[in-house]
Amino acid sequence: MSYVSAEGLTKTFKGRPPVTVIDGLGLEIEEGEFLVLLGPSGCGKTTTLRCLAGLESPTAGRISLGGRTVFDAANRINRPPDKRSIGMVFQSYALWPHMSVRANIAYPLKARGLKDKIKEGWVEETARLVDCEALLDRHPAQLSGGQQQRVALARGLVARPDLVLFDEPLSNLDARLRDSVRAYLHELHAKLGFTAVFVTHDQSEALALGDRLAIMRAGEIDQFDTPRQVFEKPATEYVADFVGMANRLLFERGADGWTCQGAPVAGAPPAARCSLGASGRLVARLRPEDVHIAPAGEVPGDGMTLLKGRVLESGYGGRHIDATLTLEDRDGAAAGDRLHVRVPLAGPGGWAGELAAGQKVAV
Ligand code: ADP
Ligand code: MG
Repeated sequence: MSYVSAEGLTKTFKGRPPVTVIDGLGLEIEEGEFLVLLGPSGCGKTTTLRCLAGLESPTAGRISLGGRTVFDAANRINRPPDKRSIGMVFQSYALWPHMSVRANIAYPLKARGLKDKIKEGWVEETARLVDCEALLDRHPAQLSGGQQQRVALARGLVARPDLVLFDEPLSNLDARLRDSVRAYLHELHAKLGFTAVFVTHDQSEALALGDRLAIMRAGEIDQFDTPRQVFEKPATEYVADFVGMANRLLFERGADGWTCQGAPVAGAPPAARCSLGASGRLVARLRPEDVHIAPAGEVPGDGMTLLKGRVLESGYGGRHIDATLTLEDRDGAAAGDRLHVRVPLAGPGGWAGELAAGQKVAV
């Protein structure tokens, strides 16, 4: 059964001109599911969370949580935040600087009239869960970023909410800490079983954490699917761009066979990982690591030479080289199209030698 159900959710901010930030959005999130809302800055992620939490009143639409209607514009139903059984964790941690860690974690219990639970030890229990028992008597200024984020997590979970909303909670942590908090969050969710909506603009975070992903664009959802489906079969060009398919190659079938970006190619297009388009036209969306290249005159790893390219620039990446190629037509004239490639240096098929500007390669 779905725990969160939103229909036709719309939020227009007043002003001149008014701005519609969410536009007829629908969401169905299963009970216990970890849903990641992924999209670029400004697409309406925070506003969506605020509407679910009751911190923002949508202009239109309906929201029900656990089978209960908490918002219905048509019937003027709008339950306040403290009646929605929601915990929130923010990017900025938003801890009260003048309160101890203990008082910060206890805050939602007070706000929801659950003071008894403080005596029952819910604060200590939750602090133990996120490994910050030893910090209870400190103040936020005495904590590192990672510790502050754990306290914020404890505060989001202390009232044992059915739904936890996370607004880019890891983006202020440095890369190494981010990975460990991410793994930790995964564990915590498995242990506690709450329903989660986790907002991020970081695709690797989304792929690692989400049971399902909702890819958001300008107030609407472009694709709602498992991480694997989104990564391998993006539904739109927008999603393809967003999940790192930096290359777009247009194949067309003419009287004399196929062309790629206008240049004739031998044989048919490769099994494209993402094909969008009508018959006779195929758009292949490829990640840099999925493009195979070989020194000019040799045959690339997938056994077919389709294109000729010349290295425009390259950068050493430890175990790989990232390079940008310009594509050339059969006669060696620059066709102008660019291709991003990531060439492995180690393992079978690893590139031996240089990849210097001006060098010719087969693609
Ligand atoms: P995201 O979290 O995806 O970065 P937001 O939901 O914060 O996006 O914002 C989406 C858009 O709504 C932005 O263009 C932002 O400027 C606008 N917006 C957010 N809050 C308000 C507000 N209170 N009044 C007017 N515009 C707002
Ligand atoms: Mg935001």
